[in-house]
Amino acid sequence: MRPKLIDKLPASLRVTPNWPDSAEARAAFSWAAEAENLHGLPAGGLNLAYEAVDRHAEGHRGAHVALRLLGRDGNRREVSYGELSRLTSRFANLLRGLGVQPGARLFVLCNRGLELYLGVLGGLKAGCVVSPLFSAFGPEPLATRLRLGEGSVLLTSAALYRRKVAAIREQLPLLEHVLLYDEDGAAPEVPGTHDLQRLLAAASDACVVAPTGRDSPSLLHFTSGTTGTPKGALHVHGAALLHYVTGKYALDLHPEDIFWCTADPGWVTGTSYGILAPLLLGVTSVVDCADFDAERWYAILEREQVSVWYTAPTAIRLLMKAGAELAHGHRYPHLRFIASVGEPLNPEAVWWGQEVLGLPIHDNWWQTETGGIMLANTLALPIKPGSMGKPLPGIEAAIVRHEADGRLDILADETLGELALRQPWPGMFRAYLGQDERYRRCFAGDWYLSGDLARRDSDGYYWFIGRSDDVIKSAGHLIGPFEVESALLEHPAVAEAAVIGKPDPLVGETVKAFVSLKGDYRPSPALHDELLGHARKRLGAAVAPKELDFLPSLPRTRSGKLMRRLLKAHELGLPEGDLSTLENPT
Ligand code: ATP
Ligand code: MG
Repeated sequence: MRPKLIDKLPASLRVTPNWPDSAEARAAFSWAAEAENLHGLPAGGLNLAYEAVDRHAEGHRGAHVALRLLGRDGNRREVSYGELSRLTSRFANLLRGLGVQPGARLFVLCNRGLELYLGVLGGLKAGCVVSPLFSAFGPEPLATRLRLGEGSVLLTSAALYRRKVAAIREQLPLLEHVLLYDEDGAAPEVPGTHDLQRLLAAASDACVVAPTGRDSPSLLHFTSGTTGTPKGALHVHGAALLHYVTGKYALDLHPEDIFWCTADPGWVTGTSYGILAPLLLGVTSVVDCADFDAERWYAILEREQVSVWYTAPTAIRLLMKAGAELAHGHRYPHLRFIASVGEPLNPEAVWWGQEVLGLPIHDNWWQTETGGIMLANTLALPIKPGSMGKPLPGIEAAIVRHEADGRLDILADETLGELALRQPWPGMFRAYLGQDERYRRCFAGDWYLSGDLARRDSDGYYWFIGRSDDVIKSAGHLIGPFEVESALLEHPAVAEAAVIGKPDPLVGETVKAFVSLKGDYRPSPALHDELLGHARKRLGAAVAPKELDFLPSLPRTRSGKLMRRLLKAHELGLPEGDLSTLENPT
């Protein structure tokens, strides 16, 4: 049996952690004191992009590399803070030249590449509300989001425009301007669009940043759609403080770090931590413009000397599947901190990091709505594999029960309940677009209700149990799917596991499992019985699955989250619901 705790020796940390995770440090923390690290606009106010880019460009880090872009074809381009500041100013000025007003909604449909950064940061400098879209979306999900978000400007590549936007353009009367670029460099000529490169070249690289403030809208992010139709969460420029603080304390970014966030730019992680947080901390970000490839990723970690790496369980699963030999083909002497977000990180994955890469993986938890990391396994904190860690400084969390009559009880340690956060904190969302009532329902008194079930142990660590919609009620027990899935994943044959509750007249619900197998294994009645037996031994008969089906792969959102609701819909013959974020729809 592996130990329950991964303790860290000071020598193995290589740096002094930014967050010592002590009671004294927590007591001394204040948002106001941290806010002193931001500059504010020269004429007053606060702008996310000014803090992320111009502040450094004007200071002593102007020549420091902000972005290291790795092209699909092996080319490599470095962009300093100074250059990024000038380019994003050009972008802001070209928007102004088109008559785009502050507050206008700018949608960014880009693969990873410099244009993405210019669009998001330049748009924020011009005072636009920026909404990144996932480039793998088809025309319908794009049209829905552009309509709901009342997009008036769209930045995209010529190829994406042709494939996805041209056909829906007529349905989008509010979309006034489309800015096109070509990923291969040739100037695209498409009627009804502007040539980004030409406008950039003609724009001035000096710009007065729009006079936004802490409460001005900044970004519109759509949730992953794991539990239903995606919601549009509206954020504000004040989130700069949250991104700064979490980059410093949860990801432990130090000035000389080389940081790599692998999240797709279409999701909140790809913006908060793929773009904003590392820039707010003034570090160098590696931006890989190619798709996932295990060998390529290991080579990047080694060659680019990545020191802090932020990834997701879905990517870690793929790396685990690719085998340890591939990982051992490289060396990672610069890598010092690995973190993961987006889904529960099974203990197996934490240990895989320790055993194969020489570093455990630090799980952290947050949501589109929270704007940034809330709970984390920080560098200084011993890891309990399977736990999401503890609240960051400045964040107060609790496990609560919210009664139908509105009463809210704070629950004792070790009790299962809903994870709640005391509001407000800098960077929290301010609205669900077009759904005021739904937004209001997220709050009870001082607390924001996350919709996730969890428990806190007596050491203050939080453990994810499941989405409130996914939890299974069986013979008086509440069963979290994560616990059952983690047990199945311990079996060497299992690559992925998902469990759902099936209505049962006797016990309320029974547990049904779906698994996909690793490459060397084939479904068979013997393996079926072996897996059920393994789960029974690990979990006991009350919690273990009663049924198990093999599937070639499990349905996931494009951000890698298991769509248990779809498995359940298929199993029970119910409507499938919104599938706009489903990966590989068939
Ligand atoms: P939707 O709200 O549309 O159903 P979603 O909740 O998946 O989609 P996101 O905001 O992208 O959309 O994801 C946040 C959710 O992801 C969290 O509420 C939680 O359920 C899950 N999650 C994130 N990080 C972790 C983690 N470390 N452990 C367990 N679950 C996590
Ligand atoms: Mg959600």
